[in-house]
Amino acid sequence: MGQKLKKAKRISDLPPYLFAEIDRRKREALARGVDLIDLGVGDPDIPTPSAVVEKLRDAATKPVNHRYPSSAGLLQFRQAVADWYLKRFGVKLDAENEVVSLIGSKEGIANMAVAFVDPGDLALVASPCYPVYHIGTLFNGGKNYFLPLTRENRFLPYLESIPSDVSQQAKILWINYPNNPTAAVAERDFFTRVVEFAHRHQIIVCHDAAYTEMGFDGYRPMSFLEIEGASEIGIEFHSLSKTFNMTGWRIGMAVGNRELVAGLAQVKSNVDSGIFQAVQEAAIEALRLGDDIVEPSRRVFQERRDILVSGLRAAGFDCDMPRATFYVWVAVPKELTSAEFTAKLLDDAGVVATPGNGFGAAGEGYIRFTLCVDKERLKEVTERIRQVRF
Ligand SMILES: *Cc1c(COP(=O)(O)O)cnc(C)c1O
Repeated sequence: MGQKLKKAKRISDLPPYLFAEIDRRKREALARGVDLIDLGVGDPDIPTPSAVVEKLRDAATKPVNHRYPSSAGLLQFRQAVADWYLKRFGVKLDAENEVVSLIGSKEGIANMAVAFVDPGDLALVASPCYPVYHIGTLFNGGKNYFLPLTRENRFLPYLESIPSDVSQQAKILWINYPNNPTAAVAERDFFTRVVEFAHRHQIIVCHDAAYTEMGFDGYRPMSFLEIEGASEIGIEFHSLSKTFNMTGWRIGMAVGNRELVAGLAQVKSNVDSGIFQAVQEAAIEALRLGDDIVEPSRRVFQERRDILVSGLRAAGFDCDMPRATFYVWVAVPKELTSAEFTAKLLDDAGVVATPGNGFGAAGEGYIRFTLCVDKERLKEVTERIRQVRF
């Protein structure tokens, strides 16, 4: 039996979990009664807008919603996504064929590789990154080629430096702007180069757009699909999680090229049965209200960003002012590694951050803070950090 209890190779071959050490120190500190401030987790602390919660309450009482949903999503939900894309980005989508609902975008990202990555296929992954992109490749027997995001290239992958045999072989490219963990943003010229590159080498582009609604100072990030030719080679993943403070609800969408959407939908129809329809009805309401309910939390995160960034800079740290996302990406003092710096912050200040190398080798030399605690606690963070000697 022992042999048979062995995990499948796809699990045992996973790269080591780099947050184990920080998790252990966190548990120890909590056990000692330390008043930890956790800026490690990217999960909004702000509740879902009440209009959306009310809608769920009503929708939950309807027996029609108690039955299996369709795995592609209610056509009304997909139409609401299409309407929102048109209003927000000027992108026209056919709700029936170019939109699929997701049980959170994480699910869709993982299943995208099931649909399009065969053993031996090569994925280009801009890194540091949200880990699901490259884990999806590995689970399906593919190989990852990482495109390092550095401060010198404004955390945008330098496509021109990819060896030509690699671009020739690559099947799929993963990018994410506004970016987690670096908080970098991409403009039209970058996305245009991505579309040209993808057409030249016949590569599928997967753009994770989870943070387009979290722009600050009036900045409105764009959709990758706004670029001419993008819908011929690309798919965009979106989510209500960060936009509407709905991480627990598990609802997102993938939109774009119809063959890519169909491939993903086909996988899903074989492994899941969609999203509780009442949640879809509430999501329709969220998309309909749009900016009216996003703007209040945008203002909250912007104020928090200003407090944390100015506090960190006053304490001598080096970080860019994020134009979007609820992350702050901070350069670690020269003589320390990301892990050492994170450990020191935890032990000496009771502040939890995430070491940048946990998002990929190119993240070494940085740590990531989230803005998911209230402003008083963030002021406390900057006070505590000011007192730590590095
Ligand atoms: C939070 C996050 C997601 C996904 O969230 P879901 O809740 O699964 O929709 C996707 N991509 C990035 C980069 C994220 O930070």
